[in-house]
Amino acid sequence: ADFSLYDAVECNITGPKSEGVPVVSSFDQLFADFADSIPPELRESIRRCGFVRPTPVQKFAIPVGLAGRDIMCCAQTGSGKTAAFLVPMLASMIKWGRGTGALTVPYEGPCKPDTLILCPTRELCLQIFEDALRFCSQTNFRVVRVYGQESVKNQIFEIAKGADVCVATPGRLWDFVSSGIVSLTELNCLVFDEADRMLEMGDMDKCVRPLVENFGMPCKENRQTMMFSATFPDAIQKLAGDFLYEHLFVAVGAIGS
Ligand code: ADP
Ligand code: MG
Repeated sequence: ADFSLYDAVECNITGPKSEGVPVVSSFDQLFADFADSIPPELRESIRRCGFVRPTPVQKFAIPVGLAGRDIMCCAQTGSGKTAAFLVPMLASMIKWGRGTGALTVPYEGPCKPDTLILCPTRELCLQIFEDALRFCSQTNFRVVRVYGQESVKNQIFEIAKGADVCVATPGRLWDFVSSGIVSLTELNCLVFDEADRMLEMGDMDKCVRPLVENFGMPCKENRQTMMFSATFPDAIQKLAGDFLYEHLFVAVGAIGS
């Protein structure tokens, strides 16, 4: 990537109380300006990823996420959206001492992840899982993946060892939640990746909405919800609004439709 192009990318942040939302130009500035919010473990894992400069979506969305705000963010494919939600999500978990790490005692009852990343496909689930592992490398957080087209046995085995960060496709997660393997009642942060596909997939009314509304997940005022997508058509924005609280709309570069 030609990193010198980054400074030319425009961004528009709109929504309630959007005045004065900070923007950063480098990870050093991010670490300096958000000294209290980005713990050393996370700085180190960002460094180990080899990330030198934040991409535009990271420059604009990470500060919004660190401020605890809900986000609807639109930025093109390949622009670094994964780190844009992983950094604020993990920063908050570390800062507030959430997440239990690997369980030493055999577990009983449903596991209660602190954060949930919903995504539309198995491939994407595996990709986000790998990225989340890298960003958690300096923490004791347990990251688990939940997706279809694979036997449930191994996934349940991994969940039983602890699940702080759950990366999931909606269908399989619905199976686990409705059978009491996973509980969403302790969730502090909810992410929709490729939100346009999440919200328009046939699963929306069958799985996605029930997962958010019918199984005791904290209401939108009591969790942080972040949605990332390459496109946000009006109809999808309207649907997404059901799950967001006073969110900021972060549009990076040209908005697809
Ligand atoms: P998107 O979800 O927007 O399609 P990804 O989050 O998958 O994009 O990132 C695309 C690629 O860019 C990945 O290989 C990722 O590791 C890399 N990347 C992300 N942020 C940076 C950065 N700040 N510096 C260098 N590479 C980055
Ligand atoms: Mg992505």
